Amino acid sequence: MINESRLINSFITMAQIPSISGREGKMRDYLRAQLQERGLEVNEDEAGLALQGEAGNLWVKIPASVEAETILFAAHMDTVGPGEGIQAIIEDGVIKSKGNTILGSDDKAAIAALLEALDVIREKRLPHGPLELLFTVGEEQGLQGAKQFDFTSLKATMAYVLDAGGDPGVIVIQSPCQNEIEYKVYGKPAHAGINPEKGINAIQAAALALSRMPCGRIDEETTCNLGIIQGGTARNIVADYCQIKGEARSLNRSRLDQITQTLKNTFMEEVQRQGARAEVEVKFLYPEIRLDPEDRVVKTAVKAIESTGLQPRLESTGGGSDASIIHGNGIPCVNLGIGMSNVHSCDEYIKISHLIKDTKIILAIINEIIKEK
Ligand SMILES: [Zn+2]
Repeated sequence: MINESRLINSFITMAQIPSISGREGKMRDYLRAQLQERGLEVNEDEAGLALQGEAGNLWVKIPASVEAETILFAAHMDTVGPGEGIQAIIEDGVIKSKGNTILGSDDKAAIAALLEALDVIREKRLPHGPLELLFTVGEEQGLQGAKQFDFTSLKATMAYVLDAGGDPGVIVIQSPCQNEIEYKVYGKPAHAGINPEKGINAIQAAALALSRMPCGRIDEETTCNLGIIQGGTARNIVADYCQIKGEARSLNRSRLDQITQTLKNTFMEEVQRQGARAEVEVKFLYPEIRLDPEDRVVKTAVKAIESTGLQPRLESTGGGSDASIIHGNGIPCVNLGIGMSNVHSCDEYIKISHLIKDTKIILAIINEIIKEK
């Protein structure tokens, strides 16, 4: 029932359309045409304008053939680089790039599987409830597209993002919330040899503060990091400015708030003790997902995956995805493993058997929702 060569061709065609974040225009045009050919009315939002990119998020509503709850499937159209001039090749049942670019199975494998599932539904006249599909832009740049999307235009009560690492069968049910934290120190410049006592060294103040701050793994659920440090203007000038960029993550929102407060307070106090001035800016990047095996969105995925003969595996991850944003907007959402490997590298590949399993899982979820009715 799944047309393997159609699925492979569709995936390879999309993989070869360059769509690095912000430059998704050609991919948007292709996907819109594909959806329209399947008789769907395609909507595009204003995310492209807001993000100064070529394209907005696309979404479609597929009317039901039988009554059931509305479910949403989501995948992203953008990729990381190097993503120009991609040539996909097949070797021993595996699709990979020629080696000088990424492949783009992250996340076009998901889009290909979704299109194939639509074709199977139409050809086999499979019954289905109301479906919504969302194709985002800018995912690789901090989930920017999903953050722009107006979720009130959707009716879905459960959502499945197809964008997780791991083989088909993986269901990511927990992911952290994250704060980006920027620390700034303002000291006072002076000549390092003539009158250093007139200066206040921002670099040293920062260093003393940083040495007192937690960094790395805090507890099972919580981590924080200092990632970038910049400052000073010349070797012989007492540094009057220094800035540090870091982050904190936790599966637990109150732990995130706590660790962020500790980092902020420690930094402010220590810098001020050195006579310098400190500023700390905190930006909340995305909310946590904390589902458990008994939640419906999870149970439905488990049953659907089992029905395809695969083994469901519930997992926790250390990063955010569009699922974080969808879930945060009140639609319970898990992220499903689609079998893409070595993503964000020129060694990226996906097995053809995984593309097929992805399609089967999508069809099985659609079928499971009807059974639940
Ligand atoms: Zn992805």
